[in-house]
Amino acid sequence: MTRFDVIILGAGPAGSAAAVTARRAGLSVAVIDKARFPRAKLCGGLFTGRAQGYYQEIFQHTLDPQLFEPRDRFAFHLDGTPLGGSEHTLPVYLTMRWDMDRLLFERAVQAGASDYSGCRVTELDLAAQRVELDDGTALEYLILIGADGVQSRVARALFGQSFDKARIGFALEVEAPPQPDNPVVRIDFDAASWGYGWQFPKRGSTTIGIGGLQAENPEIQARLATYRAQLDDASTARVKGHFLPFGDYRRVPGRAAVLLAGDAAGFVDPITGEGIAYAMKSGQLAADAAATAIRAGQPDTALRIYARQVRPIQRSLRLACVLRPLIFAPRARPFFRRAFASSTTVKHAYLSMLSGEIEYPRLMWLIARRIPAAVWRRLRRA
Ligand SMILES: Cc1cc2nc3c(=O)[nH]c(=O)nc-3n(C[C@H](O)[C@H](O)[C@H](O)COP(=O)(O)OP(=O)(O)OC[C@H]3O[C@@H](n4cnc5c(N)ncnc54)[C@H](O)[C@@H]3O)c2cc1C
Repeated sequence: MTRFDVIILGAGPAGSAAAVTARRAGLSVAVIDKARFPRAKLCGGLFTGRAQGYYQEIFQHTLDPQLFEPRDRFAFHLDGTPLGGSEHTLPVYLTMRWDMDRLLFERAVQAGASDYSGCRVTELDLAAQRVELDDGTALEYLILIGADGVQSRVARALFGQSFDKARIGFALEVEAPPQPDNPVVRIDFDAASWGYGWQFPKRGSTTIGIGGLQAENPEIQARLATYRAQLDDASTARVKGHFLPFGDYRRVPGRAAVLLAGDAAGFVDPITGEGIAYAMKSGQLAADAAATAIRAGQPDTALRIYARQVRPIQRSLRLACVLRPLIFAPRARPFFRRAFASSTTVKHAYLSMLSGEIEYPRLMWLIARRIPAAVWRRLRRA
């Protein structure tokens, strides 16, 4: 039996951020992932300014330009009609998760985390604080961090299910051939219902996808086909799908000495679908909380500490849920189309939010100043 202060299940951005942070605090750490790295992860790979800030803070490295390509030109569409484009001073970055997650995991191992990648968990005993792996290895922990994504086994062990399918999102993606002459990030607001479509031009491919609330998109395969035709993508690239916890976040992200971070806690922006930034930040906060609780000799208080620290993330997600009908509700569409097409301020606000220059509380305030209260109430009802 090997004992660790912290066991982290899942080595995506949340798990690796948690591992680096916990090691920096002097804790003994094991990271378990069923995959070996590099591994595929379905994702647009849009890395915002917010993600960049957290990455530098947590991993203490600047972005490697080989892995993160800056993009500052954007084009927006609705019903196939252009809503105008924009250039933005703060760029976003495009990356491939294959490369990015390998890099983050390497940093975690370099920081001293024990590497249990390529291992399946055969038993997760929360009462005994023990994990058993498929090769018979048994590991004990004081604190468990569930960073094992949207279908989290840790969340299932705690709450019976990882998510409510009726409330979360689903997305499809293809990696189409690269378009070296097209550096524009394209967003199509109506490619999916209560979601959008994207075309992200990268060095080695063009990532095309659509995603939205699963309950609102029963014909998502057909909608992707329509979208690809609209973009003149006739490639034979394989279509892949994945759930996205699109705004259905955990109000209580764990229990006692078991904490959930990233997608496992549902920390994904319900408007933009951005999850990498919140995954890294919540992983860091979970590890910080673990360190504080262990230092105090009270591992069971970890959730209480973590719950306080993740409140700003939850607040942003809550406000984004309130704003979401303004962009996606069919009744709000004419208003949104007019506002977005005619106003550089609205486009700028959207991009500022995307790039991490402002957060939802500030955006909400900017919008609230422009919308009469009665319209606002109607939109919220929609
Ligand atoms: C189609 C699509 C497009 C997206 N595009 C973007 C985007 O452009 N920008 C953005 O910011 N976000 C995007 N997201 C969201 C983003 O991918 C996630 O929010 C982010 O990956 C969450 O990180 P995580 O570390 O919490 O989980 P993950 O990245 O899912 O990592 C979880 C890890 O846990 C491991 N694991 C799972 N179960 C087990 C188990 N039982 N035992 C051991 N290991 C396990 C997995 O192998 C994986 O390595 C997109 C999501 C989808 C589906």
